[in-house]
Amino acid sequence: MAQRTPELPQKTCPVCGRPFRWRKKWAACWERVKYCSERCRRNRRKSHDRAAGKEDRQG
Ligand SMILES: [Zn+2]
Repeated sequence: MAQRTPELPQKTCPVCGRPFRWRKKWAACWERVKYCSERCRRNRRKSHDRAAGKEDRQG
């Protein structure tokens, strides 16, 4: 039985502390990805980012 074991890069989300793996939607920006999801990305420490209406979507 050949079990596929894809060796995808893995990171740990600093917000929820959970590991998450590479996703295709991050293919172009994986090095910049820090959070497992947009939810965590928003839950990160808010300093003065609130008023910034910058659209920085990942995917
Ligand atoms: Zn997270």
